[in-house]
Amino acid sequence: MVDELLKKLGVSASAYQGGDHPVHTPIDGSRIAQVTLESPEAVAGKIEAAHQAYLAWRDVPAPRRGELVRLFGEVLRQYKAELGELVSIEAGKITQEGLGEVQEMIDICDFAVGLSRQLYGLTIASERPGHHMRESWHPLGVVGVISAFNFPVAVWAWNTTLALVCGNAVVWKPSEKTPLTALACQALFEQALARFGEAPEGLSQLVIGDRAAGEVLVDHPRVPLVSATGSTRMGREVGPRVAARFGRCILELGGNNAMILTPSADLDLAVRGILFAAVGTAGQRCTTLRRLLVHRSIKDEVVARVKAAYGKVRIGDPRKDNLVGPLMDKQAFQAMQDALVRARDEGGQVFGGERQLQDQFPDAWYVSPAIVEMPAQSAVVRHETFAPILYVIAYDDFEEALALNNEVPQGLSSCIFTTDIREAERFQSASGSDCGIANVNIGTSGAEIGGAFGGEKETGGGRESGSDSWKAYMRRQTNTVNYSRELPLAQGIVFD
Ligand code: NAD
Repeated sequence: MVDELLKKLGVSASAYQGGDHPVHTPIDGSRIAQVTLESPEAVAGKIEAAHQAYLAWRDVPAPRRGELVRLFGEVLRQYKAELGELVSIEAGKITQEGLGEVQEMIDICDFAVGLSRQLYGLTIASERPGHHMRESWHPLGVVGVISAFNFPVAVWAWNTTLALVCGNAVVWKPSEKTPLTALACQALFEQALARFGEAPEGLSQLVIGDRAAGEVLVDHPRVPLVSATGSTRMGREVGPRVAARFGRCILELGGNNAMILTPSADLDLAVRGILFAAVGTAGQRCTTLRRLLVHRSIKDEVVARVKAAYGKVRIGDPRKDNLVGPLMDKQAFQAMQDALVRARDEGGQVFGGERQLQDQFPDAWYVSPAIVEMPAQSAVVRHETFAPILYVIAYDDFEEALALNNEVPQGLSSCIFTTDIREAERFQSASGSDCGIANVNIGTSGAEIGGAFGGEKETGGGRESGSDSWKAYMRRQTNTVNYSRELPLAQGIVFD
């Protein structure tokens, strides 16, 4: 079945058969492909080719570059169902979320096309007569994209569409756990290139490889920008290495996202918000809700309602009518179980978290999502475990809740459910949530592409997607032009 899908998506069998790196579907753990990991030399060759492509692409007018991205959006619309299904097979997302991920790619294409006519600079008032100043934005070069398994296609599209309209070339190293969706994206992009007809060869390249291939991108002097999405562990290695050669990074790393649930909140809304944010994608989103900070006066009621909602969640094959699919692999399951043991040791009361469907899928890792009532925000709560564990902590006053929200090393997403405007505004103020995303009466996950996406502290500080994130993919140039017949110096300096 995967063969049929990949064929429809334009991926040739030689790209995913006969290699030495097995690819498994988390749905039943079976092997679905054998890809070949590319050597460091091959990666370096692709970077060089991409650099040559960039030298031509940077002079193509930006709206024309946008046309290529518009065509890519058309191709994605045509193959949304197939690519979404492949995301479900390779990453284990339920059908709706697989399709949603492809829709996100389409949305960012539309955004980038509009942007291709809006890469605005500034005019600046000069202090000298007969002079004008302006600020221009120019392409950077080759953008290296390193992505994680849990958003196997959208994160690449966020980066690539913006990078391309900004006049750059791209080399992408996807997760070694999800090479098939990457091959499909590349094949679809090549369709857009063929329709466009005049892009330089090698403009957007795919590298199938593991950490070693990523390291070539990290260290290569021809890659001025590395956009890396994944664990904080990865970012800790990548950030300093890119900085050591004065390259730039966009780091999109781990999250540990909280909801503050106040006594005035609409609890029906909040329980629905908790459910999607905490168990969606089987807890494997960077923005998954991991901490529920609930006012002590409503804690018991909320926990009872959330437990009841969890009890109705259908767990199983993500392509069937289920809400929670599998964990990615055994390692993820083990990390979840280890965290639950630690949570018990730290005084937690655990509900759920057991392995499911073991008889039907002995080689796959389905779990019931866990709720853990904790006496305090102890060490295990401060750590991101990439699995559906929701820690619940009671608070007594609002200041305490804000402090708890901010008292973790990560700073990606956060939200508050309240109908008290003072609390809502305070949460989003300078002394409120310290996260890159702070929502009111909406859960922590499921961001739209129009806003800048990313987080602070150990989340890495990067911003991608909407707003003015495009500026990270360009270099800024300040221009001063003298149209007078004099040569006055700034600051009134006389130099005769
Ligand atoms: P991971 O860190 O194991 O791998 C991510 C990518 O980095 C892979 O392509 C991997 O091959 C590569 N890599 C690992 N070490 C590297 C190194 N030293 N040099 C170069 N490349 C290296 O992450 P994962 O398990 O695939 O994904 C889950 C993690 O990603 C979670 O922590 C999650 O929160 C995070 N994530 C963050 C965001 C965000 O936008 N903030 C989005 C999705 C996922």
